Amino acid sequence: MNYVIPPASQPVVPVAGSDDSFPVRRIYCVGRNYAAHAREMGSDPEREPPFFFCKPADAIVPVAPGSTMEIAYPPQTSNFHHEVELVVAIGKRGTAIAREAAKDFVWGYATGFDMTRRDLQFALRDKGRPWELGKAFDQSAPITPLVPASRCGHPTAGRVWLTVNGQLRQEGDLADLIWSVPETIAHLSQYFELFPGDLIFTGTPEGVGPVAKGDLVTGGVDGVGELSIRII
Ligand code: MN
Repeated sequence: MNYVIPPASQPVVPVAGSDDSFPVRRIYCVGRNYAAHAREMGSDPEREPPFFFCKPADAIVPVAPGSTMEIAYPPQTSNFHHEVELVVAIGKRGTAIAREAAKDFVWGYATGFDMTRRDLQFALRDKGRPWELGKAFDQSAPITPLVPASRCGHPTAGRVWLTVNGQLRQEGDLADLIWSVPETIAHLSQYFELFPGDLIFTGTPEGVGPVAKGDLVTGGVDGVGELSIRII
């Protein structure tokens, strides 16, 4: 059997401190998972169940530690936003996973940016249309190397932060997630069978805002990793 066109290359996230790579299957993202961010997006965060959207696996842009990855300002937007998030990497297949067992399905953690064409997202949202044009575009998911849970544990607290040109724009704490990582895995796996290679962007704290060409955007989750991108 021959492919009639060259198959696409497998998107990967490097594993921190090794030559190994984690192959990416799907990217799930949680919307509005910090109360203050839900409010700044204009909704009431209290006890709404989590909701999810997806990015394509090839939206991933691995960013090596200590380097700055150049990201092109995307087309069809004039309101390109940063969102810094804890990312969970799934290492084991499962469906309808119990919250108490969810940690067993986690391979590791990274810090990622859920880059967003906010003007398109809001226009789509207000018309009740899907979010892909606002969220699922090329290079919309820069990410640090993955840290195995065997090394960093399962963080339940820690600063989540982002600066633009050295100025603090986002600051929150994993302890303030509305839906914790185990709860998120439990909810998501009610709807999708999770597989090794799936990533979950867990949501961003308050302070999202626009970036411009030339901006240096640096963000991190304490104990997991940090990354820098330059908008060009
Ligand atoms: Mn997000």
